Amino acid sequence: MTKRSDDWAPATKLVRGGTMRSGFGETSEAMFLTSGYAYDSAEQAAARMSGDEEGYVYSRYGNPTNQMLAERLALLEGAETCRITASGMGAISSAMIAPCSAGDRVVAASALFGSCRHICSTILPRYGVETEFVNGTDLEDWKRALSKPTRLVLIESPSNPLLEAVDIEAVAELAHAAGALLVIDNVFASPILQKPLELGADLVVYSATKHMDGQGRVLLGAILGQSEFIEEHIDPWLRHTGPAASPFNAWVVLKGLETLELRVNQASANAAQIADTIAAHPNVQAVRYPGREDHPNFAVHQKQMKSGGTLVAFSIKGARAEAFKMLNALNLIDISNNLGDTKSLACHPCSTTHRALTEEEQAEMGLDESWIRLSVGLEDAEDLSRDLVQALNAL
Ligand SMILES: *Cc1c(COP(=O)(O)O)cnc(C)c1O
Repeated sequence: MTKRSDDWAPATKLVRGGTMRSGFGETSEAMFLTSGYAYDSAEQAAARMSGDEEGYVYSRYGNPTNQMLAERLALLEGAETCRITASGMGAISSAMIAPCSAGDRVVAASALFGSCRHICSTILPRYGVETEFVNGTDLEDWKRALSKPTRLVLIESPSNPLLEAVDIEAVAELAHAAGALLVIDNVFASPILQKPLELGADLVVYSATKHMDGQGRVLLGAILGQSEFIEEHIDPWLRHTGPAASPFNAWVVLKGLETLELRVNQASANAAQIADTIAAHPNVQAVRYPGREDHPNFAVHQKQMKSGGTLVAFSIKGARAEAFKMLNALNLIDISNNLGDTKSLACHPCSTTHRALTEEEQAEMGLDESWIRLSVGLEDAEDLSRDLVQALNAL
């Protein structure tokens, strides 16, 4: 009874996609908080377990609420299929580890979310997978690194925290020529603003914790791509290692998706306005916003992203002490390392999200103590601008 229409516009997919109505005719999707399923007969139990009959057997393998969310996300992304996991890292670690074996090689852009970087730099090498980091914005560096056979390439665009753009189409071509699977962490752009599968990615991974829930309530992740690949490589890993999502969390995100397009577009409009306000302030050295022409990768962002997105990074005149002073002077905006929320949140990457990197690694990605990352929410843009200006004035 699943409704699936590839012709629907995103707004319709977000509200209706994947809905399975029970016999009660509920209008809002039901939450199936069940770990197990009962069978009509012992024969049916045997048939379900052997796969001869379709149906649920255990919620580590599948659950109707989780299934509704997976179908809705697959429709929105334009992917053949989707699997959901307990967190974004559950999705990304599964998508990276499951396809790799000892002796394989992984290439990743050096500007990555901290835990993704840890998987590449520390976990994979312990299991005999060699990893190499490249400057994600430098196609020559990609060419050099992908001149050897490679199993998997991981990129994030825009990247965290400086919102650099990796040319997804160009890297997809190089990755495929090297025999690699291209995995994109599309969290910062969200499926509303960027469609990596259309640009040549093989798998798209999300932290649904961010824009998809978008209201700071639950952790969740998603992996999207071709059915054949996911069934062969990802399903056995998910089933037997168990990063299964809670149906409660899946339900929260399912309902969150209904307003995803509205929220992302409004937060992006707010972010664009606020980026200009910040750029004009005398205590600011530089602003990085994908929608501004002065962004060093503006052309690449323009090519692959519909708008500038919900995140802004800026460098204040000063270092850690001044950055802390500015953050502490905020009245409305919270200090938090979360992002993609209705509430605007600001953090100091060097001392929080990126503290595990050495100073050299931070410098390699252009990051220093003067940078602040701002996730713009749905408060009134004028109120947000006023809060930022008074905090910057405090310097
Ligand atoms: C938050 C985040 C993750 C991790 O997701 P969790 O849901 O916290 O596990 C991965 N990548 C990016 C870009 C993120 O922002």
